[in-house]
Amino acid sequence: MFFLLIVLAGSVFTYIYYLKEKKEHLDTIRRGFCPKCHQKSIELTDQRSGGCSGPKIITFECRECSYTNSFSIDSSGGCGNGKCG
Ligand SMILES: [Zn+2]
Repeated sequence: MFFLLIVLAGSVFTYIYYLKEKKEHLDTIRRGFCPKCHQKSIELTDQRSGGCSGPKIITFECRECSYTNSFSIDSSGGCGNGKCG
């Protein structure tokens, strides 16, 4: 039981760390820089939204170091719990 708690806490911590890192990457990209090579060569390559104003998936790619990452952006507002019609 205790072991299970440690594993659970560990995975939660890893997940939070992952989210934090991802957020930092997104902040860097939003300023126009690549999080990996810090050049101003980041480009928006793909953008898709799931129907109504739910989370949006955007993909960025760097022309210099071929860094690529996709983020889901929560566009708040619109249809309450994400499902409409
Ligand atoms: Zn780069």
